Amino acid sequence: MAHSDACLKCTICIAACPVYRKDGEFPGPKALGPEWHRRHLAGTGDLMDHVDDCTFCQLCEGACPVGVPVAHLIAEHKAAALPKQTWPMRVRDTVLTHPEWVARAPVLTRATALVPISRWLKLSTRSQRPSVRKAPRLSRSSRRAAVGGGRPRVALFVDCFDRGFDTEAMLAAQALMEVFGFEVHQVPRTSQCCGAAAYASGRVAQARRQAGAMEQAIRGELRGDEVALITLNATCQGTIGEEWSKFLGLNDLPVPVIPFHVFALQHAPAGFWSTVAAANVDPGSWTWTHTTCRGRRRGDGALFQLARRAGMDQVEPLDLECCGAAGSYAFKAEHAETAHDIGQPAAAQIHGRPGVIWVDSGTCAVHLEQLAGRTARHPAYWLWQAWLTSQSASATPPAPAGHGEPRDGGS
Ligand code: SF4
Ligand code: SF4
Repeated sequence: MAHSDACLKCTICIAACPVYRKDGEFPGPKALGPEWHRRHLAGTGDLMDHVDDCTFCQLCEGACPVGVPVAHLIAEHKAAALPKQTWPMRVRDTVLTHPEWVARAPVLTRATALVPISRWLKLSTRSQRPSVRKAPRLSRSSRRAAVGGGRPRVALFVDCFDRGFDTEAMLAAQALMEVFGFEVHQVPRTSQCCGAAAYASGRVAQARRQAGAMEQAIRGELRGDEVALITLNATCQGTIGEEWSKFLGLNDLPVPVIPFHVFALQHAPAGFWSTVAAANVDPGSWTWTHTTCRGRRRGDGALFQLARRAGMDQVEPLDLECCGAAGSYAFKAEHAETAHDIGQPAAAQIHGRPGVIWVDSGTCAVHLEQLAGRTARHPAYWLWQAWLTSQSASATPPAPAGHGEPRDGGS
């Protein structure tokens, strides 16, 4: 039986769709997914308008009571519609589905000289572009001091966003795991994409190629004794941990793939949490947590728990299933308004209260900062700041930070 034949027509997926709620012209997941797919298999599946307005958040798929892979059927629909794309959009989406290229020259995303080209490419002029937040390099001696032998080893997956735009978060995660007692090495060495962006845009064949190359690189760089591969971005986590084997025809990696915040909750020693909590960082300030729509299936609970364990006393998950950023979705001119409308409740929820946002995706962070006017960073960044505060409060020299600079694309 084809996946689409399992559809009960219950419309639960429609109720879960954030785009359907905001855009009266959007046909919704049932029509774009299983209904189109059934006609497609019968040879009568004309392409539908607005299929590209789907963010690929996968909330419909998570809600389906009988496990229809709704969003992945929509990805096939998008793939069939690709030849209808206009040239500027085709060029734009080629760039946006190669975030590993963008990671090599992140400053270009803010170059004012390129604004006319951006307009031609139908990039949104409304959506904020990411800032480049580079961590300083540390000396070889501090690196040697930090990385002792004989400790259990983890591999840290360096995603395109953090490699290009936020080495602060990446190095904070590495330094924290070393404080937890692990030896950390980064993979892959060179800037590559797991295929998530291409898949979201319906470029399924390209996603398979990118994922396959990435898988080979990671397998070649794993040393065989790692206890886990740690991810910072929930979308990459879902792509590598689930989609590679389920939809892209790859074998599972030989190590568990675990989000950083889950690893921290499992492996940071009790003394770390009590030290950080005792520092009482920013009392009276709020901490809002948000995980990506793709991470939503695993819930926001672990991020919430992380902030609570770090001693943040006023913690609240953002009341959003999806913030609207959805990877590169909000950067496309035709989607900017919908993306803004989807994320708007965050601004209302936060309004008038001081605080910061802990979020496990760089593009969600950019979008939420613009919407809510609060600094949004990766939990590893915030946790490292709390650790540094605790160390300066106790006048103990801080643990080494900033070592292990990215080996490609960052400095
Ligand atoms: S939730 Fe699942 S079964 Fe129900 S209409 Fe959507 S795809 Fe069909
Ligand atoms: S993937 Fe998200 S945006 Fe697309 S149809 Fe499903 S719920 Fe709607």
